[in-house]
Amino acid sequence: MQKNECTIQDWIQKVVVQNQIDKYKHGHHFIHNDTFQKLLQQRTNPTSSCVRDILQKSLSIQTLSLQEISTLMQVEDPILWNEMFEVAEEVKKKVYDNRIVTFAPLYMSNLCVNNCEYCGFKKENSEMKRIRLSMDEIREEIKILAGCIGHKRLISVVGEHPLSDVDYIVESLNTIYSVKEKTPHGYGNIRRVNINAAPMSIEDLGKLKKAGIGTFQVFQETYHQPTYEKIHPQDTIKGNYEWRLYCMHRAQEAGVDDVGIGALFGLYDWRYEILGLVAHSIELETEFGIGPHTISVPRLQPASHSELSIHSRYRVNDEDFRKIVVLIRLAVPYTGLIITARESPTILKEMYPIMTQRDASTNIKIGGYEKTFLQEEEEQQFMLGDDRSLDEVVRELANEGHITSFCTAGYRCGRTGKKIMNLLRCGREGQFCKLNAILTFREWLDDFASPETKQVGEKIILKELKEVENSFPSSEVQELLSAYEQVKQGVRDLYF
Ligand code: SAM
Ligand code: SF4
Repeated sequence: MQKNECTIQDWIQKVVVQNQIDKYKHGHHFIHNDTFQKLLQQRTNPTSSCVRDILQKSLSIQTLSLQEISTLMQVEDPILWNEMFEVAEEVKKKVYDNRIVTFAPLYMSNLCVNNCEYCGFKKENSEMKRIRLSMDEIREEIKILAGCIGHKRLISVVGEHPLSDVDYIVESLNTIYSVKEKTPHGYGNIRRVNINAAPMSIEDLGKLKKAGIGTFQVFQETYHQPTYEKIHPQDTIKGNYEWRLYCMHRAQEAGVDDVGIGALFGLYDWRYEILGLVAHSIELETEFGIGPHTISVPRLQPASHSELSIHSRYRVNDEDFRKIVVLIRLAVPYTGLIITARESPTILKEMYPIMTQRDASTNIKIGGYEKTFLQEEEEQQFMLGDDRSLDEVVRELANEGHITSFCTAGYRCGRTGKKIMNLLRCGREGQFCKLNAILTFREWLDDFASPETKQVGEKIILKELKEVENSFPSSEVQELLSAYEQVKQGVRDLYF
């Protein structure tokens, strides 16, 4: 045991590369606590004309400044909030139309060297059964996800540990991409794997790029450094606020240019976290010309052996959560906005017009899809709010007028980073996405949908086809129709 402990301590020393923080920091980091606190103390209750000027900027798909988003946060008038909600919907429609992308989380390992106060996987939770999936076990999970449910995208999740380091993640990426499951009309496979893992060095991120990572996702948890340091013990790797803060800089340098940021809402004042997320977006845009590909808004959920997860004084209620989603949509209008099954079906449904991605058929137990291990509910990282199947979610989305997109074309056609951001800003990426949503939805309806879901799905797909016919150049319409026919005949994975 002692030998093992010693090895882990050596490993921790090796992970953090100080000059891969300092080179981006220029003496001080981009989260200016004093500025944030001053902005949060302003109480101006802004006029409607001032608010509307800012909303115009969101509608022109420009990132808001810290002062502007802070002004929107101070709105008290419920009528103005309704207006902000409507503009947030308009922004989403302009950039992403009525599409919602779905994915599944794949929890691969809960081994962890850290002791984050809010997380069920923390090292000191000795009642947590520790499991790391083998490659064979990962393969079994993928057979279900891709072959029975029909997912095309994953977010792979691991705790931070030498046994789930970059080499394990690279091996898992190769395994996941290698599975191809026959279905009655074609086949199912995972075509984009995003990773949610601990911050890494430029060299390790380069390995992920080479292995075909989609988005690299790391949440800062809280941007408020004193709180961060209190809840992440200082003798752990995660205790290093700046190593985490600059991991997306390192990702950009390694060529991983689709990066996903987020804050765990409920650890500190949500307004501060919004300022943090906006400052982070502005910093990435300024330094690399590429803002975040996605922003996630995980909200603190009860976790086993975590007092903080239940009693945090900053827990966010539903009303504030809605405001958070609206404000982020307005502040960083081009970014994808992810809300996960941590939330209830009611909240998710309300947010569909503003958000862009959600998970479904979610299982966050290790080996949970194949039920490889016997695990109690409390043995998962936290409690889920929505356990409905992908089929049920697709049906609900279709009934509400949204098309589920299984598109994974972007990164496979080189539309990542700066390219995709510019395309999104001028509305062009949306054209590719619309066509790819139709093709991938057709594929999924034929391979996986229940009869009830197929019925409503057909209606939405016809509507989408009509829209393309009425608004796209005839050469593109012909190309789409030809690809659409091929998919109906069983050809799979066609994209523009
Ligand atoms: N271990 C890596 C890390 O900490 O970055 C990645 C995996 S961790 C399992 C993924 C995310 O789960 C964390 O970044 C955190 O935001 C979120 N999380 C942890 N505990 C949570 C809780 N009680 N409720 C909701 N989300 C939680
Ligand atoms: Fe480990 Fe991540 Fe959980 Fe922290 S949040 S205990 S690093 S799995």
